[in-house]
Amino acid sequence: MSTSPWFALPYPKPTKHVIVSGAGLAGCTTAWALAQRGVKVTVLDAASAPAQGGSGNPQGALYAKLSVTPTKQSELHICGSHYSLNLLRHLDPEQTFWSECDVMQIATSSAELKRQTNLLLHNAYPADVVGGANQSALTDLIQQPVTADGLIMKLAGWVSPAEFCCALLEHPNIEWHGNSRLVSLQQDNGEWQLQVESGQQYRSGTVILCHADATKQLEQTQHLPLKPIRGQVSTLPASVTDKHLQQVVCGEGYISPPYQDQYCFGATFELHEQSTCVTASAHQTNLDNLAKILPELAEDFVKSKHLLTGRVSFRCSTPDYLPVVGPAPDISATLQRFAPLRKDRNWQFPETEPAHLPGLYVNCGHGSKGLITTPLCGEYLASLICNEPLPLAKPLLDALNPCRFLIKDLIRKRI
Ligand SMILES: Cc1cc2nc3c(=O)[nH]c(=O)nc-3n(C[C@H](O)[C@H](O)[C@H](O)COP(=O)(O)OP(=O)(O)OC[C@H]3O[C@@H](n4cnc5c(N)ncnc54)[C@H](O)[C@@H]3O)c2cc1C
Repeated sequence: MSTSPWFALPYPKPTKHVIVSGAGLAGCTTAWALAQRGVKVTVLDAASAPAQGGSGNPQGALYAKLSVTPTKQSELHICGSHYSLNLLRHLDPEQTFWSECDVMQIATSSAELKRQTNLLLHNAYPADVVGGANQSALTDLIQQPVTADGLIMKLAGWVSPAEFCCALLEHPNIEWHGNSRLVSLQQDNGEWQLQVESGQQYRSGTVILCHADATKQLEQTQHLPLKPIRGQVSTLPASVTDKHLQQVVCGEGYISPPYQDQYCFGATFELHEQSTCVTASAHQTNLDNLAKILPELAEDFVKSKHLLTGRVSFRCSTPDYLPVVGPAPDISATLQRFAPLRKDRNWQFPETEPAHLPGLYVNCGHGSKGLITTPLCGEYLASLICNEPLPLAKPLLDALNPCRFLIKDLIRKRI
């Protein structure tokens, strides 16, 4: 008997058609994983083109965030890095919109240096995932002065997320519909009926919501505690410097090697800012963070400050920093069925099944790590929907389950 019956997964009926709403990294990778299994997929997005939200930056860094001792998050990140790199190698073997390269993580503070030293001492991760290097070795590798010792992350690189999304949508089993903002959905005769802002309606027995933080705007998923966090990246022509990078270098921000003759660096992390406008102060933060890792490159960039351009978008974060992936719970039935948890967190439910909304799934909350979490999470959902063996261990699937917030709230008597 499971000690967490609310996390039991459904056994879906075979399906030939799925609707994925949201065409960022989460939606496109999920659609592709289903399309690879022969399922016809309709992808909807509110915007006129794919990847106009968090997934639209010119470049993003692909590397795992590792804690000193392994956690569910680092486990997901390592599995996800392997999965993303394999998918990218398959999809774009010439590396036209991505590159497999090391990521150097410079210790920009004494606290970070201590954390990195402990991480290496604990030796919890294999040498083909992470290693250490001192300041002078890093300076030799990067071929310009770096400010401190750091970690070298293998299983890493950079990706143009928007081009990644477009390449995924080229699958012949995927049909793309832009300008299609989903405003509501309801169950009708064993199917979901979707109402789109333009007046168009869509139907399918299986629907996956990948709207990042906007997922909570729908009635069925309003319980999700998703928070948008503003981020601005800055871009400059690569010609403003002769110091060219071959690796991604990060500290409080990150910079990738030039792509399409542009350097892209950033990104700010602005918790309480909602504006979508590019600001000079965010550019300055990005330059300051760059100076903390690569001072000479930053000096060249400052001289060409007038050429800076940028892009603002929003990360979708969750309270436990893990994505939200799996079947959508029926909110009121879940609260009713598991109500005794309010009195006793150890209450046993020998006969109780979880209450899912049949055929409705969620894939969002990828924070600042979508490049390594979305492809594997898309693979998980496609395996679940097609009744195949699942690619992640059950404790990790439980940690991603969209029901977890309702259960926590019941135990803490918040609802
Ligand atoms: C500034 C910044 C820098 C980042 N850097 C990195 C990085 O270096 N490495 C990394 O791994 N990750 C990075 N990330 C995080 C990564 O970009 C995200 O994790 C990823 O983009 C999340 O993808 P998503 O599909 O969940 O969300 P999004 O890309 O935001 O996609 C959501 C989509 O849903 C659509 N939508 C919303 N509402 C509706 C509706 N009602 N109907 C239909 N469509 C709808 C939107 O138009 C959008 O296309 C960064 C994020 C930001 C903001």
